[in-house]
Amino acid sequence: MEIFRLPALSDNYIFLLYDSVSQTTAVVDPAQPEPVLQQLTKLGASLTAILNTHHHADHVGGNRRLQQQFPQAVVYGGAEDNGRIPGQQVFLTEGDTVTFAQRIAQVYFVPGHTRAHIAYYFPPIEAGDWGELFCGDTLFAGGCGRLFEGTPQQMVHSLSKLRSLPDTTRIWCAHEYTLNNLKFALTVDADNIDLQQRWAQVQAARQRDEATVPSTLGLEKRTNPFLRWDQPALQAAANIADPARTFARIRGMKDQF
Ligand code: ZN
Ligand code: FE
Repeated sequence: MEIFRLPALSDNYIFLLYDSVSQTTAVVDPAQPEPVLQQLTKLGASLTAILNTHHHADHVGGNRRLQQQFPQAVVYGGAEDNGRIPGQQVFLTEGDTVTFAQRIAQVYFVPGHTRAHIAYYFPPIEAGDWGELFCGDTLFAGGCGRLFEGTPQQMVHSLSKLRSLPDTTRIWCAHEYTLNNLKFALTVDADNIDLQQRWAQVQAARQRDEATVPSTLGLEKRTNPFLRWDQPALQAAANIADPARTFARIRGMKDQF
């Protein structure tokens, strides 16, 4: 499975999955149709599936146009998003699977950013390979999504599920927010050496106009304050010795940042 990262809108990423043997393709969160159509033309492939993580316009904006062009493409999304995702045909819940060529994605229900948000996880084929996580706006490189429709408790529960995946999981999040996320992270986890190093690397990468997505779960666990609610440094910054309330206070600080 090849994964193409297609920039869209101001800071979105669309991901196109491609299996050359079976000529299978799937697009994750098509913000816009054009980048997807261009990449499909380059590959000489048609579209097999649309995998949506949640209903926001910057994730489903390309659904209708792509469906017009490729009527056979199946549109997947979370069951709770019924009525909010254009063209949705499959309504997924926790534990469901989605088959893509030889790979099978596991569906995680991860409410918080929205009440219906799901993530797609492809386990590695062999030990030592990468697993691939498409997490939309739930987990970002160095951050997490805003809580538009969920509570901090829900988001902690959702992020806990993602945090329990192998460290060798690539995090394909839907926005290039990393620089600003890490700038904030340093305000609540200043003594974290891994974070300081990552900040320097990301600054350099962005100066070269390079993408910082995908990240890896191992790196996120060491440097992302929104996966570190049980660390003493974060609880000190939040001034609370309670995981969910630490998360809530840090999320609130980021909202004001
Ligand atoms: Zn969103
Ligand atoms: Fe988004």
